[in-house]
Amino acid sequence: MIQRVAIIGLGLLGGSIGLALRERAPDIATTGFDANPHVRAVASERGLVAEVCESPAEAVRQADLVILCVPVGAMGEAAGAIAEALPMHAIVSDVGSSKQSVAEALAAALPGYTIIPAHPVAGTEQSGPEAGFASLFTNRWCILTPPDGADPHKVEALSAFWAGLGAKVEIMEAAHHDLVLAVTSHIPHLIAFTIVGTASDLEEVTRSEVIKYSAGGFRDFTRIAASDPVMWRDVFLSNKGAVLEMLGRFTEDLTALQRAIRSGDGDTLFELFDRTRAIRRAVIEEGQDDDRPDFGRKDHGA
Ligand code: NAP
Repeated sequence: MIQRVAIIGLGLLGGSIGLALRERAPDIATTGFDANPHVRAVASERGLVAEVCESPAEAVRQADLVILCVPVGAMGEAAGAIAEALPMHAIVSDVGSSKQSVAEALAAALPGYTIIPAHPVAGTEQSGPEAGFASLFTNRWCILTPPDGADPHKVEALSAFWAGLGAKVEIMEAAHHDLVLAVTSHIPHLIAFTIVGTASDLEEVTRSEVIKYSAGGFRDFTRIAASDPVMWRDVFLSNKGAVLEMLGRFTEDLTALQRAIRSGDGDTLFELFDRTRAIRRAVIEEGQDDDRPDFGRKDHGA
């Protein structure tokens, strides 16, 4: 059913989809477009898609599936730019990290089209056309959030497409996706941005000390805090409701810990740390991370 795929946005996610298709489904024809001419040039050099086009309309004209791989704040604009040339039968999807606001932006820009939003929970802190690699989605979850009444054959076709790229597919309501990802991805990133920012603002501790002794835990936060600023600005603005709700719960729990530390309540601290250690074990048992001290890490969920 899907023989021609157009990728709009040829950075980490778009490039990785193109490379994964080239490796795993070489019969599928790929076209692509990126608003940035430098990105288009690198995409051509690396062969991220078979044909890098000079306009979004040209890229989607023959497509059975269009995947928007731009920052979530640019989804509406990117969808509007393909409207004139998009074939009526095409499935329109995306890879945005938040789903409700993206679904609304796509539906507003492309009335009457089949829109099936998606989020591959796979990424790294690198971005741009040099960052993509074919195995990014292998054994990672891809969450589809089809709206009510979406054509089940098209949902099935998109599920099969992602499974073909090596992903495990899950179907979810967009609002639930946003809540789950707020706690598993967005808040952890916010905490990393905060702690790294706080450390760099401290006057009593020098910058060189922060870097020198970073192995004490700080280092792992710096990896997350190095993530793309445009992408993450857009994620927080677009998933505002769910992030604020989860942040409220997190703040309450943090206050409880603060109280336990102040009052010397070791039992509360021990009980929590024991519980969180079990979560880490479960993550490893599920195959979502590696037990090695460096996490054996090349790729990460986001
Ligand atoms: P990226 O590497 O920065 O790639 C995005 C590309 O889209 C850039 O080349 C950008 O050009 C281009 N672009 C921006 N607006 C455009 C427009 N209107 N039309 C065409 N191209 C446009 O970002 P990414 O990491 O691949 O992220 C893309 C999407 O994937 C985001 O929605 C993000 O939430 C989602 N996602 C990311 C991760 C992750 O870990 N990175 C994981 C899962 C999902 P400029 O650079 O010139 O702006």
